[in-house]
Amino acid sequence: MIRIGDVLVSQGEGGVYSERMLAGARVWDPFRSKLAALYYTGNGVELTADMRVLYLGAANGTTVSHVADYVEVVYAVEFAPRPMQDLLEVARRRKNLVPIMADASRPEQYAPLVEEVDLLYQDVAQPDQAAILARNCAFLRQGGHAILMLKTRSVDIRKTPEEVFHDTIAELAAAGLEVMESVWLSPYHKDHAAIVCIKPGRK
Ligand code: SAM
Repeated sequence: MIRIGDVLVSQGEGGVYSERMLAGARVWDPFRSKLAALYYTGNGVELTADMRVLYLGAANGTTVSHVADYVEVVYAVEFAPRPMQDLLEVARRRKNLVPIMADASRPEQYAPLVEEVDLLYQDVAQPDQAAILARNCAFLRQGGHAILMLKTRSVDIRKTPEEVFHDTIAELAAAGLEVMESVWLSPYHKDHAAIVCIKPGRK
């Protein structure tokens, strides 16, 4: 990952969401992006120029645009029409960003459009977040990584955030993923955690 001093940045065209520029690079703000917060609170997964990424819950393209600055291609899935309009505008200015309007819980909808990926990233804030991730692992190569951004309050408000966190890790392990890292994203995002997994098999 690229840092200028302690500041995480990405190298690409600015002006996506009024992000700050620093020495010609785009500042990737951990308060605006959970993935940036993961790079400040934990290790995450190093993004590289030869990487293919499937991104679920792209919203208006804030985080997706930074990921696209680092990798070869990002398939960005979003199902809500309003953020999709903004995402299309971001994609118009980035040749390696493929916007897909579809429901991430129904991967068969976009299977013909997506190739095998090295990284599966999910930030959908739904009750069945772990199940959605598991279903999309069909696109992930063996030895590839999956990152789940867990909004604990979206899963079950009767459980504590810690219980949801613990149950989700168990659910992902039961789905055959190897959990490598699990961290809370405080102080950047309240009651959010990141869970980084690997799909076992060939490296
Ligand atoms: N990842 C974004 C970022 O960092 O810029 C923020 C994502 S926001 C928390 C969650 C997004 O997921 C919303 O835009 C919502 O419409 C989308 N979403 C929720 N469920 C979805 C689903 N089943 N399929 C596709 N998109 C979904």
